[in-house]
Amino acid sequence: MTQPDRKIDIKDLLKEKLAEGFAPLGAERFRATQVLDWVYRRCADDFSGMNNLPAGLRRTLDEKFYISDLEVVRKLESKDGVKKFLFQLEDGEKIESVFIPSKSTSTVCLSSQVGCKFACKFCASGKTGFVRNLRPAEIINQALFFRKNKYHVTNIVLMGMGEPLDNYDNVLKAVRILNAPYGLGVGQRKITISTCGLIPGIKKLAKEKLQIELSVSIHSPNDKTRSILMGVNNKYPLKDLMEACRGYAKQTNRQITFEYVLIKGLNDSKKDAQDLAGLVKGMLAKVNLIAFNPVDGLDYVPPGLDCTRMFKSALDRKGIVSTMRNPRGADIEAACGQLRLRH
Ligand code: SF4
Repeated sequence: MTQPDRKIDIKDLLKEKLAEGFAPLGAERFRATQVLDWVYRRCADDFSGMNNLPAGLRRTLDEKFYISDLEVVRKLESKDGVKKFLFQLEDGEKIESVFIPSKSTSTVCLSSQVGCKFACKFCASGKTGFVRNLRPAEIINQALFFRKNKYHVTNIVLMGMGEPLDNYDNVLKAVRILNAPYGLGVGQRKITISTCGLIPGIKKLAKEKLQIELSVSIHSPNDKTRSILMGVNNKYPLKDLMEACRGYAKQTNRQITFEYVLIKGLNDSKKDAQDLAGLVKGMLAKVNLIAFNPVDGLDYVPPGLDCTRMFKSALDRKGIVSTMRNPRGADIEAACGQLRLRH
């Protein structure tokens, strides 16, 4: 699969931009609505079958634009219903997406970059370094793949490979198209952007007037351990990060979710829980506890169930809202980057 020379990927454009581009082609603006209906609702992969458009316009569109797609390289299915896909992009790079069904929702986890610059210790994506940002179309195509293949998707999380706020403009454009009625029509409150704590991105996002969910990976309440786990903490330490998060919650009036991966003997003590409570207290926030999902080549192990319960109770006692998420798809390497690493 190669990118056609000099053609524009139609899924890289917001509707307004596409409509602007139609005027010089001699086409009315409403034609953009028709084209996007084919692209996103009917999942068309070329212009020739768009039979409500004049034949001349179809030919012109074919000269100027193209409709990209992803190629499935591998699919893994977990005993708990989680399905993981390895996709190949036009330049041969590979990314992963995961489908996570539950009783009431079906979530897809999308990648935002090929590889990642941040090399968090517990994550497979950071192990091979950063390759490139994904274009908006490449992010959207992951979600569209599930629509095309009749998966019922209620929620989207940008928690796969890559740091979404490090690819800010493309991620935001993709989010707007995923949310738009002409796009995938997923409600803003059903779309989550996660970050390892990039303060400039959090501040910028606070001004976007979006109702999306923000999820911040915290993983330790002290700078020493957090810097061991997440190198980004050296640049954006906890004090500054929490200040930015408080600002975000105040400005948007939206709750922040703090992700906390529990690793045995490293960040799972009662004191860690109490210190975490101290950081989050008074903020419109909740904590999401996740037991570590083992990664090849790392010595970290998940804590026992007793320890996880103790950690949660300590947060409860301090009045901090928290949830305990079971790791899903552990039997199919569902933590981000693990499948690509194998390839
Ligand atoms: S956890 Fe996120 S930010 Fe950290 S290395 Fe993995 S993908 Fe990158």
